[in-house]
Amino acid sequence: MVKGYKNPVDTSTKKIVAQNKQTFDLEDLGVFASNDFDGGRLNGFVKYNDSTAILIVNPENTPINNSAYYAFETWSNTSKPFYFTFQYPKGYKHRYVPKLKINGTWSLIDSTDIFKKDSIVTIKLNLGKSRITVAGQEIQSSNDVKNWYTRLVKGKEGSVRLKSIGESKMGRDLPVLDLYRGDAKNKEIIVLLTRQHPPEVTGYYAFQSFLSTLLSNSNMSKRFLDKYHILAFPIVNPDGVDMGHWRHNGGGVDTNRDWSIYRQPEIKQIVKYIGKTLKKNNSKIVLGLDFHSTYHDVFYTNNIREGTTLPNFIEQWFSALEQNIPNYKVNEAAANSTKPVSKGWFLYGHQAVGITYEIGDKTPKTNIDLFGEVSANEMMKILLDK
Ligand SMILES: [Zn+2]
Repeated sequence: MVKGYKNPVDTSTKKIVAQNKQTFDLEDLGVFASNDFDGGRLNGFVKYNDSTAILIVNPENTPINNSAYYAFETWSNTSKPFYFTFQYPKGYKHRYVPKLKINGTWSLIDSTDIFKKDSIVTIKLNLGKSRITVAGQEIQSSNDVKNWYTRLVKGKEGSVRLKSIGESKMGRDLPVLDLYRGDAKNKEIIVLLTRQHPPEVTGYYAFQSFLSTLLSNSNMSKRFLDKYHILAFPIVNPDGVDMGHWRHNGGGVDTNRDWSIYRQPEIKQIVKYIGKTLKKNNSKIVLGLDFHSTYHDVFYTNNIREGTTLPNFIEQWFSALEQNIPNYKVNEAAANSTKPVSKGWFLYGHQAVGITYEIGDKTPKTNIDLFGEVSANEMMKILLDK
């Protein structure tokens, strides 16, 4: 258990409302919608008039952050334009600009196909027999994540070991990528986390780019893995991801409030695995990065720097990012964690630097890839010079 949070949160398991996986059928219009895939979220689909349907989208339980995630496929018997109006429970608003997957490729919906009246959002799509996927963020299911890291580690067995640390609440795999070269003994440890919050895919993309850079086989990455040990958790909340949750895990809880008593199996097993690794190798954590998404790019840091394992890291890293990313200004929000979030756990539990690495919901993928790569390279440079 890690203490020190002013505002503890009760992370006991709560009830979630199951989503019925199905194809909704507006028979007289020949229009269909389905949530029957990993990452799907659509709780109802009803006719409003001959050219418009209501999309009913509910969260897994409440109270919950306003991160109204939706994902469905839609098609029709005949080619025609059709309108869809989003309906959320009272108190919750539309957040994510729709992304469309057409013929296997994701793109943002054209802004001329979005209509806003007060806070009610309607979109127009040109339907036909082939399915269009409409989602709040691009879908990266647990299976997609697995395909990615399986490809990533191939041929790099000398630098990375892929392991399972256990299962989520509903029995999905909790993987870890364990990176180091040579002997793990006495190497300082860096922990990387992502997908505590299911729709936060842009943060996951930064995690992908960051980790790929650490495994790029460059001279620097080899030297880095000779000296340091990385524990990277690519999908902390696989149940939430596959069940199309707005924020919570299979236990109906925000896992990023459980970094104190570890009541949820995902955090409990991650903490246990980290603890075991530290003990076995006589190591300590120096840095923890937790990749998320929010409205804009921001780094949430702890105020306390003195007495941590890397008291100057944040300042050095942020100035290196500004020097190496064109026209980029770091947006830092420093505060001490009053709630049991991972960045507080790194500080209070390990005197380590903890940072929540947030990518904007709308940050373009090419920018994210660059941020991920530059931030990994600059981290390696600073830690190798230490
Ligand atoms: Zn988050």
